[in-house]
Amino acid sequence: MRLFHALLATTAFTLAPACAPKSAPADTPSEPAAEIVAEAEAPAPLTVNVLDCGSLTVTDLDAFSSAGDYAGQTDTLTDTCYLINHPDGRLLWDLGLPGMLVGAGEQTVGGIFKVSMGKTITQQLADLGLTPADIKYLSLSHDHFDHIGQIDQVQGVTWIVQEDEYNDMFPPEGAATQAADPQLAAMWAAFRPLEPLKIKGDHDVFGDGTVKILEMPGHTPGHSVLLLDMPESGPVLLAGDLYHRKESRTLRRVPRFNWSEPETLASMDKFEALASELGAKVILQHEPDDVEPLGGVIR
Ligand SMILES: [Zn+2]
Repeated sequence: MRLFHALLATTAFTLAPACAPKSAPADTPSEPAAEIVAEAEAPAPLTVNVLDCGSLTVTDLDAFSSAGDYAGQTDTLTDTCYLINHPDGRLLWDLGLPGMLVGAGEQTVGGIFKVSMGKTITQQLADLGLTPADIKYLSLSHDHFDHIGQIDQVQGVTWIVQEDEYNDMFPPEGAATQAADPQLAAMWAAFRPLEPLKIKGDHDVFGDGTVKILEMPGHTPGHSVLLLDMPESGPVLLAGDLYHRKESRTLRRVPRFNWSEPETLASMDKFEALASELGAKVILQHEPDDVEPLGGVIR
C-alpha cells in the first residue's frame, strides 16, 4: 500500500464533483404486457460488458516483483472494469482510474506511471443505452487508486465489500489508523455515503451460483476475485490484481507493495487450484493479451 499512497501524493488527482447523470425519467412509459410476459418466460442470459477504465504505462516495473527481476522493464497495462448483466440486476466490478483523466491527455503519476483514459464509465454506459441508475450493485477487487477512481459516478448503488477491505479503508474505532495519503483517504471517503453490504469470505451475489465474489487476500487485506458462470464461456475468473501480467502468473511474482506476500502466495495457490478444477478461463484485468481478445464482451 505504501507505494500507492506515495504515488497518490504526487498526483494531481482529486475527486471531481459528481458528474453522473443519475437518472431515468420518471415518466418512462411502461412496457407492453406481452413483452413483459415474454421476458419472464425467457430471462436474459448472463452477459458481461468489458469497460475500458484507463491505461497505465509503467516505465519501471521493479515494484511489481519482490524477486527484483522486473527492474528496468516497462509495460503497458490495461485498466478494466466489468459490467455484469444478470437477470436480477447489474453488478459493476471495479471503478478504474479517475474520470477526470478524460480529455487530460497522458499524465505522469508517481514517476513510474503514465496514465490516460478515453471515456468515463458513465459515457460507456451511455453507449450501451444505460445510466449509472441501472447499476444495482458495486464491488471492488480491492481499494487501490486504479480500481476506485470513478466512485463519483455510481453513488446510490449497494456496495458489496469484504469486511477486511472495508476496515482497511475505514479502520474500526480503536484500531490502528493507516497512514494513508490524504488524497487516497479522500477517494476512500467518497465511499462513505454508499450502503455497504459487508461480506466475509465468499459471496454468491444473486444466489444462483452464477456470480461469486471470492476473497483472495494478499494484495490488500480483502482483495477478491470474481467467478462467473457464463452461458457460452463457462467458468470465468476475473483475477483482480492477484496478478498484473501474464509473466507474474507464470513466475508467481509478488509486487513489493502488496499488503502480505505470504497471503498473496496462499491466494495464488487457492486460485490456481480452483481454476484448474473448474477448467476456468482466467482474465488478468491489467493484461492486454487477456483483455483485447474479448472484444468488449464476455458471454
Ligand atoms: Zn490495479
